[in-house]
Amino acid sequence: MDLLDTLTAKGLRGEVPTREEALAVLATTDDELLDVVAAAGKVRRRWFGRRVKLNYLVNLKSGLCPEDCSYCSQRLGSKAEILKYTWLKPEQAADAARAGVAGGAKRVCLVASGRGPTDRDIDRVTDTMAAIKDADPEVEICVCLGLLSDNQAERLKAAGADAYNHNLNTSENTYGTITKTHTYADRVDTVQKAHGAGLSACSGLIAGMGETDEDLVDVVFALRELGSDSVPVNFLIPFEGTPLAKEWNLTPQRCLRILAMVRFVNPDTEVRIAGGREVHLRSMQPLGLHIANSIFLGDYLTSEGQAGQADLDMIKDAGFEVEGAGEATLPRHRADVAEAAAPAGSCGSAASACGSGGGCGPCGGHSHGAPEAAPVTEGTDDGLREDLVKVRRRGAGTELAPNA
Ligand code: SF4
Repeated sequence: MDLLDTLTAKGLRGEVPTREEALAVLATTDDELLDVVAAAGKVRRRWFGRRVKLNYLVNLKSGLCPEDCSYCSQRLGSKAEILKYTWLKPEQAADAARAGVAGGAKRVCLVASGRGPTDRDIDRVTDTMAAIKDADPEVEICVCLGLLSDNQAERLKAAGADAYNHNLNTSENTYGTITKTHTYADRVDTVQKAHGAGLSACSGLIAGMGETDEDLVDVVFALRELGSDSVPVNFLIPFEGTPLAKEWNLTPQRCLRILAMVRFVNPDTEVRIAGGREVHLRSMQPLGLHIANSIFLGDYLTSEGQAGQADLDMIKDAGFEVEGAGEATLPRHRADVAEAAAPAGSCGSAASACGSGGGCGPCGGHSHGAPEAAPVTEGTDDGLREDLVKVRRRGAGTELAPNA
């Protein structure tokens, strides 16, 4: 297939495909799917070998957000019966983080609901990072606190953060149908603030919100242009109690095509399968590892994932290996780029890629708005697996042990 030969050749050279080529990946048929996965797999192995980076989420503050992101179970007015709690104490968060690291996670992702942090919140997260790094100085920390004000990224960097997560989520064209309380430009600004402060930028998307193929390609190219070191690909978890609860637009095949498109556009960038992996890829998860080089271990922010041990077994059974603490995630030339973006006097910490996984975190909802979106025909009732959506009842903010 000429398309796949072209995409493979470009990916092996680290070149970005054209927009038309990216769209063509999303239009491939089920008969072509294994060829698409194999082509993306060659590109993945060129830059990341058979390594899988494990990231572990710690939800520092859950629910009660004043923002209205329609995919999110923590949004203003959400009726989803999720855990709701205010800031974990540093030692509570460090305990949760330790469980993830002991389970094999290289990166801990500290996430808090909300529009953005106050300066007092930055102090709290500073104390939390110190507690985590006291126990394990090698662990990478990615912080996800929403929209950043001036100097907050610099403060997080000085306090030991390695990365900052803030997802673009969808295209600029459709962003206003997903969220009214902030803009796409606000999100771009925060990613740029983080990158400018020398933090590794982690920024990704949510698929399955009623968007068109063009929207998906737009946001993925935008992420490439922003210089995101890590691209979490969330598949919408349609939480009951959110505006997007009835949006079941994804099939495992569609998810694999989306992952492949993201890989071809970001050949040498960390591509992470984020929220919705178990719900939408289901038994096809191992094929996703041939495309993405990073996943979350265990549970998500407000939903439960499969058992952490099942993640580890899947990686081993599929012939991959967990990336070790001493191994660089990004290829050397990408690390150089990230270091060059850091301000003078900053050490850069670019050898890592980022973590977390959702809009603040992985993820949920869909675009009840999206009036211009073409109907998605791939997902039918076959994809409706409400039985797989499980609200998180263990780990951070509970008395029960974390899943790691
Ligand atoms: S994605 Fe973040 S900002 Fe948006 S509603 Fe959820 S917690 Fe709030």
